[in-house]
Amino acid sequence: MSAYPSQAGLKDQKHTLIIADFRSDTLTKPCAGMRAAMAQAEVGDDVYGDDPTVKKLEARLAELLGKEAALFLPSGTQSNLCAMLSHCGRGEEIITALGYHVFAHEAQGASVLGGVAFHPLPVGQDGSLSAKDISAAVKPDDNHFPISRLLVLENTNGGKAVPLETIKAGTKAARAQGLSTHLDGARFFNAVTALGCSASDLAAPFDTVSVCLSKGLGTPAGSVLVGSQQLIARAHRQRKLLGGAMRQVGILAAAGLKAQQHTSMVFLSLPDGKAQPLQAALSEQGLQISASEPQTRIVMHKDVSQAHVEALAKGIIAALA
Ligand SMILES: *Cc1c(COP(=O)(O)O)cnc(C)c1O
Repeated sequence: MSAYPSQAGLKDQKHTLIIADFRSDTLTKPCAGMRAAMAQAEVGDDVYGDDPTVKKLEARLAELLGKEAALFLPSGTQSNLCAMLSHCGRGEEIITALGYHVFAHEAQGASVLGGVAFHPLPVGQDGSLSAKDISAAVKPDDNHFPISRLLVLENTNGGKAVPLETIKAGTKAARAQGLSTHLDGARFFNAVTALGCSASDLAAPFDTVSVCLSKGLGTPAGSVLVGSQQLIARAHRQRKLLGGAMRQVGILAAAGLKAQQHTSMVFLSLPDGKAQPLQAALSEQGLQISASEPQTRIVMHKDVSQAHVEALAKGIIAALA
């Protein structure tokens, strides 16, 4: 099976009712309370800066993460891209990891659209980049090389929360050589919960942080980028350029304000060729999982219960017996 599995939907699975869906935390749907908050949201034209609900969400996230400003965007990909294009210009370079989302899963937008190079490093078992590797990847000021400008880290990565001390060692190494720092915090609050630190503690080592509201929380869409006034003003321009400026978008921001978080991930290592039969067997019981190999991801979120997890565990044991 390809190392780049497709994320296509259920087209090959004609099975009946889905009881619980463990493929991703992006499958969560807004509950009645969230839909009500969306219906009642006070709105304005956010391109004019007139949407009070968007402003409220941005202010809340900026405060929570201890930064000056924030910007609401339609997706995490666009949020990361606006950040990268705000930090880096053509001919400059981002140091990140091979498996991190910005390099592996965002169609390399910073290179395609911004002329920004990537230097991807191998990622450690714990999802981190080593300070030593980061330092070694920074190029000297020499016209043979791109200009190393930005370090992008990810937390959580692959369901693992990278400890704060490891994060700080990496950002310190980058800063010592004049780089700025961005965190892809798609599941930022999962990391905060797992590490038992505050949101501002985890955000402090970074100039900008991107947080997804559409993972595990039932929120239909939206990410927030936080940082200094200056960087967020630049990201605002990039968002316009990318077509991400939206009008009465308080309807979506209201969902983000309502969201609470309930997620984590377990990875199953399966023998060769077992992923698809397992997926089919579970699907018969209304339990949806992904079928990637050598590891498949089981994702918890607000729409799966303890009983679903128990049913899944039984189903896996029975199918593999
Ligand atoms: C989901 C995700 C993103 C953003 O994805 P979108 O689908 O564009 O919202 C970015 N980074 C990581 C690690 C993610 O899991």
